[in-house]
Amino acid sequence: ERKAALAASTGPGATADGHKVPLLANIGGPADVAAAVEAGAEGVGLFRTEFLFLDDDKKAPSEEKQVAAYRQVLEAFPEGRVVVRVLDAGADKPLDFLTPADEPNPALGVRGLRTLLDHPGVLRTQLTALAKAAEGLPVHLEVMAPMVADRADAKAFADACREAGLRAKFGAMVEIPSAALRARSVLQEVEFLSLGTNDLAQYTFAADRQVGAVSRLQDPWQPALLDLVALSAEAAKAEGKSCGVCGEAASDPLLACVLTGLGVTSLSMGAASIPYVRASLAKFTLAQCERAAAAARAADSAADARDAAQAVLSGE
Ligand code: PEP
Ligand code: MG
Repeated sequence: ERKAALAASTGPGATADGHKVPLLANIGGPADVAAAVEAGAEGVGLFRTEFLFLDDDKKAPSEEKQVAAYRQVLEAFPEGRVVVRVLDAGADKPLDFLTPADEPNPALGVRGLRTLLDHPGVLRTQLTALAKAAEGLPVHLEVMAPMVADRADAKAFADACREAGLRAKFGAMVEIPSAALRARSVLQEVEFLSLGTNDLAQYTFAADRQVGAVSRLQDPWQPALLDLVALSAEAAKAEGKSCGVCGEAASDPLLACVLTGLGVTSLSMGAASIPYVRASLAKFTLAQCERAAAAARAADSAADARDAAQAVLSGE
């Protein structure tokens, strides 16, 4: 069955009636590019840049080292989209020289964009390296910040991008419920949203993503999470902007249809999931996806939401 799904699945992501949903890859560095290309990824929806910072626990990598790594990735998708996330240090990804050691609740402390705003030189070097890496390439570069809480965060990030002379779209990840609740306000400062459903679930349910005992609450089928996805997608639509998903949720073939029905405009996932998600989307029309999404949101638990979506899509 795996082989059949792979064979039947090529080309750009779209529903049965031709509503396009670009399927993008989550990558951790140049080493992941080959698998993404082979899976037919239409670009990169989440380039986690943390890997570059793991070699040295005392300082950030040089601008030259960053330019070389970014260039390798950008060259692999000449006409495609590449969404680069600036450094997301702290919480589950601590870095000795940036992350405060004495925080009682690191997930609620200085992490993501907060770390970068406290260390503007690190952000500036990264943005300058990205600008240089993209020079002369036809690639559509998009750069986004992790852990944006509100409009002020989005503005601080967009200002830093402009100051670095970056000619790219600037975006905000929606990982904190406040950003989803006030998505229209965040969108006054940036050109796109990308939902990080792993962290969005963690912060919506007060359930640490690293604690197995609370994993029930990390289920991306939770209707409360779907509500926040819908709010974000609706806000983006009202502003004429895009709203993708780059958390684990996008890699579930059934949930991918529901996310599409909620108005999400692109899906980014580990390369291995792309053929399955592509095959699943191709089976249903946008209207069916919308009905499945409405049924899932009307449920009271993750399990019921999944069953309800499945029932709609299998025509029960
Ligand atoms: C997320 O939080 O959903 C996300 C995509 O970012 P990361 O998993 O790297 O925190
Ligand atoms: Mg995250």
